[in-house]
Amino acid sequence: MVLQETQPRILIFTMKLGYQTRAFDEAAKKLGVELAFVTDRCHRLDDPWRDRALPVHFEAPEEAAYAVMRAQEGRRVDGVLALGDRPTLAAAYAARGLGVLHNHPASIEACRNKLRMREAFRDAGLPVPWFRSVMLTPTPEPTLLGISYPCVLKPLSLSASQGVVRANTRKEFLAGAARLKHLLDSAEIQVTREPNLDRMIVEGYLPGREVAVEGLLIDGELRVLAIFDKPDPLEGPFFEETIYVTPSRMSEAEQGAVKKCFADAVRALGLIHGPVHGEFRINEEGVWPIEVAARPIGGLCARALRFHVNGQKETIGLEELLLQHALGLPGSDAAREQAASGVLMIPVPASGIVERVDGVEEAKAAAGVMDLEITARLHDYIAAWPEGSSYLGFVFAKGERPEEVEAALRAAHAKLSFTITPRLPVEHPVTKRI
Ligand code: ADP
Repeated sequence: MVLQETQPRILIFTMKLGYQTRAFDEAAKKLGVELAFVTDRCHRLDDPWRDRALPVHFEAPEEAAYAVMRAQEGRRVDGVLALGDRPTLAAAYAARGLGVLHNHPASIEACRNKLRMREAFRDAGLPVPWFRSVMLTPTPEPTLLGISYPCVLKPLSLSASQGVVRANTRKEFLAGAARLKHLLDSAEIQVTREPNLDRMIVEGYLPGREVAVEGLLIDGELRVLAIFDKPDPLEGPFFEETIYVTPSRMSEAEQGAVKKCFADAVRALGLIHGPVHGEFRINEEGVWPIEVAARPIGGLCARALRFHVNGQKETIGLEELLLQHALGLPGSDAAREQAASGVLMIPVPASGIVERVDGVEEAKAAAGVMDLEITARLHDYIAAWPEGSSYLGFVFAKGERPEEVEAALRAAHAKLSFTITPRLPVEHPVTKRI
């Protein structure tokens, strides 16, 4: 069939239609690209793109890919992008079916399963802590499993550190395993129908500093867009993120070692195309890959990144850069702006109902603060880590040096106060569960 469309089209697989997709929409308008969204959350949203969003179930990726292929029959598709972890596998299958350059679904499967990822890293000779997959029922006995301490307990396929717990003793291991089982059995998690909700991966705790790295794979080559330092220690028992600041204050040699480790990890997973986001720990033994995801940095955090195309003064956002890359346009090798930049993911001090937020205007007025957005909804429940996975909001800052940016984010945070009241326990009338 002859394709009628002359305008390039890109499919975006996403859980949510919100800030990030809006930013993609703006970038698409500028580039003269048509976007089509594939999502499993249409019914929840008052999105202005409803007519363009194709509803699928990401937990059945092959089926979702089939639905997408049917819907795209005879239409032009130039590229496929996935935002967030859950849609990545459906996106990879769909791209394969449509003949669009993308990562192989097996590579994405390894990114979506923390056990497979450790195996892939180990088999490629990358440094990995000891690890093993452990069933959550019956209650695992760490002494019989040969567990040593400190260790980290993690669900196999959740993200944003949800359910990740450090244990220093047998008692903490048992408490952590019980807590993780409770989380994985909860209705909120069961409804995702993620695989492997009956087990966890347990691995040795890696001490050290942590960085997050944003990258773009161009023809199989990794281009590092930014290395973010995480200046708050992430030592557990839970691993909620807080501050990201770029450029990194690590030495050139350390940054080089991180980049090499990222490239090796990407190769071990077989990823070849598009955005990648990695987390690494650095200690006296070297650089350890914690995790690599085949997607860009989450939602609002992308706002911390701006790029100069062809040395021009004007900057573009990550979304525009990714569209350029997806279309094979020049410009996807743009350099990040000179300024130091950072984001604070506002931590959740305790689970409960968010009743009030104070100090927003004062925090916005703090020197260096560029933007602040409270994303938690008033009068809604928010869970603290390890059960939680959403932040109260985001603060963005810029400055000449990373130290200034970190100070600005801390100053803004100090001005914010949240009133969170505990949720009253209610018994479910049928299940009798609290
Ligand atoms: P998720 O995909 O949920 O983010 P990760 O495996 O990336 O899960 O772990 C989340 C965070 O937990 C990491 O960023 C890191 O701070 C911490 N973490 C995970 N594994 C280890 C480990 N073996 N040693 C030390 N910290 C770890």
